[in-house]
Amino acid sequence: MLIKNLRILDPATEKDCIGELNIEGSRIPTLPQLSDGSYDGTGYIVMPGLVDIHTHFREPGATDSETIATGMAAAIAGGFSIVTTMPNTTPAADSEDVLRFQIDEANKYSEGLVTLYPTACCTKGRAGKEAVNPAELPSAIAFTDDGNYVMPDEAMYKIAEDCKALNKVVMDHAVVPSIVNGGVMRKCEASEGEKIFPDAAEVEAVKRDIEVARKTGCRMHIQHLSCAEAVDVIAKAQAEGVSITAEATPHHLMLAAEQIPDAAASNWKMNPPLGLESDVTALRKGVLDGTICCFATDHAPHSAQKKEGGFAKAMFGIIGLETAAPASWTAMVTEAGMSPIEWCKCWTVRPAALLNLSIPSLFDNSSTTVAFLKEEEWLFSEADIASKSHNTPFIGSTFTLRVAGIGRTV
Ligand SMILES: [Zn+2]
Repeated sequence: MLIKNLRILDPATEKDCIGELNIEGSRIPTLPQLSDGSYDGTGYIVMPGLVDIHTHFREPGATDSETIATGMAAAIAGGFSIVTTMPNTTPAADSEDVLRFQIDEANKYSEGLVTLYPTACCTKGRAGKEAVNPAELPSAIAFTDDGNYVMPDEAMYKIAEDCKALNKVVMDHAVVPSIVNGGVMRKCEASEGEKIFPDAAEVEAVKRDIEVARKTGCRMHIQHLSCAEAVDVIAKAQAEGVSITAEATPHHLMLAAEQIPDAAASNWKMNPPLGLESDVTALRKGVLDGTICCFATDHAPHSAQKKEGGFAKAMFGIIGLETAAPASWTAMVTEAGMSPIEWCKCWTVRPAALLNLSIPSLFDNSSTTVAFLKEEEWLFSEADIASKSHNTPFIGSTFTLRVAGIGRTV
């Protein structure tokens, strides 16, 4: 259908304008028809489908928390066109068999809208001993041991050299476990009696990864950045020409440790933990000045049973696909004054470039997935969740944007 009067965010051309597009699909919002037979998209924003470079779908393995089917449904609900799954499945994604299974399974539930690109482990079995051979894993779009810091250093150097040769990015869950030492939360009112997560755990990991990038020339990407000092360290390395990039999650940009109700509120537990308000300010500044190049969800579903026991016992992680656009828009556009087109680039062309993918312009007549957004107050509730798991601190939150639908340009 021809839809007129849309606000179009087109990151490939950096245009933010009113225009018309031909869009098809069963998930387009209901629109009034105009006298010429076209439809009136007044009030809707259309942009290319979002790209998530950090998604956990749990299959094979923990299908009590998420399957590829339910994960793809969550991606569609969130307006995504690309998801990049993490390798901490059971078995771990260190073989073409697992990667091909994930791709084939996703194709059954894609509705022609979402493409799943799997990452593979950096180390065999994600065990932190021996590096995999990336040349033997052509289906992997990138390499990471996410959930774990890539260790030992020799394995990280080996994978970085191999990925440099293949021009693939290495992504790291930059948290040194020996420094974390069981920490679950940053020091705040709710952390009384809980083990504290020190910033040094992240900062030291980031410094190691910068050295790997500097020495090998490999593109290194820091996952889910959470503290001010790490933003500074990365900015300095980038100024020196080191090939290091970083992402921030919507939750680290919108929520602070000071807001955690108490240590029983395990839906506020994620890895790395929420930063303090000063960290949130630094992360937002890092996004605005480009030190942090993109957003990523770290969608980490866990069944209710796995989130029992408060901060001390519950598993780390929260879901994020359904709230990705609304939370990041609220934090960055509404609260931090980011321009909508820059915000759009953080969900599209920039993460895609890390994966060597490109996002076509909506004006060049190619068929591509688009998300419909609406700028309005939206109270997020459990009914809005498509994921199999409901572990999120955002239930009951009000956002300034909602995802109104998804379709394809024709
Ligand atoms: Zn991680």
